[in-house]
Amino acid sequence: MRKAGLTAMTCALLLAMAGGRALAQQGLGEPVLKEGSAKKISPHVFEIVGFPNIFFVIGSKATLVVDTGLGARNGAILAREAARLSPKGAKFYLTTTHYHPEHASGQGGFPAGYTVIRNRAQQAELEADGPRMNVRFSGFTPEIKDLLQGAVIGKADVLYDSDYTLDLGGVKAKMMFFGTAHTLGDELIMIPEDSALISGDVVQNHLSPNVICDRCSPRQWLLVLDKIAPLKPRLVFPDHGDIGDGALITQEQGFLRDLQTQAMALKAQGVSVEDASKRISEAFAVKYSGWSGLGNVPQSVQRAYADPVG
Ligand SMILES: [Zn+2]
Repeated sequence: MRKAGLTAMTCALLLAMAGGRALAQQGLGEPVLKEGSAKKISPHVFEIVGFPNIFFVIGSKATLVVDTGLGARNGAILAREAARLSPKGAKFYLTTTHYHPEHASGQGGFPAGYTVIRNRAQQAELEADGPRMNVRFSGFTPEIKDLLQGAVIGKADVLYDSDYTLDLGGVKAKMMFFGTAHTLGDELIMIPEDSALISGDVVQNHLSPNVICDRCSPRQWLLVLDKIAPLKPRLVFPDHGDIGDGALITQEQGFLRDLQTQAMALKAQGVSVEDASKRISEAFAVKYSGWSGLGNVPQSVQRAYADPVG
């Protein structure tokens, strides 16, 4: 079983930490991914549990690595792990679920020969805001600062608009962009042969959504979930916390709909955003007491209030 603290280990929380208190002090685990720890979680997918969870989709002729860890040192660990898990002569691909440092800043640690794939929106966001995020994360702990030293903003070899499918040999990976949710460029990856969805930070497991970007809102996140639900995956593999089944999508929709409905009702009554944040946070602390990251709720209410469509 995974530790409860790990469920809470997310960039959501990391970004909310005042003064950059050490991850270890928070009981959130280590920022260096554990080499040799990948475990098979479905017929073609292996996972390293960590910050963040890393997924390897292994076909008979190629391997797709999903996300990089913090900085090049983690990227190199993942490249070695991918080589260990893959058949001889395999081709290697890397993709990132979004531009935040624990997902994308380790690209420089992957050897030449890797083909990097991203959606256009994510690449643009990485280039526009990646440097600021790396500086911000570097302020959290000396160890993270060290890992991010010299981190480069990576380029992609393949850019796609809405989706891109890779045939890895006996298994396919369909990378998809549905719109703005956690960031402007979230990617989700469907593995049809395993009925598995690698869900990034968009569908999580009992973890309050982090509506972090300025232009993000619960309403837009719900629109993305409406597009994900018809995929009906049997398995859902989030970037932070425990893997689960397809019910995680319904659960995420329920939480965000609840928040959106309550926020819009209070806004219509003329309640201030400060009061609404306080009231909804108090109500959610009781209603969703088993969830982590509920410190995000005020931010989500603010984004709901600020959404011009509402
Ligand atoms: Zn993130």
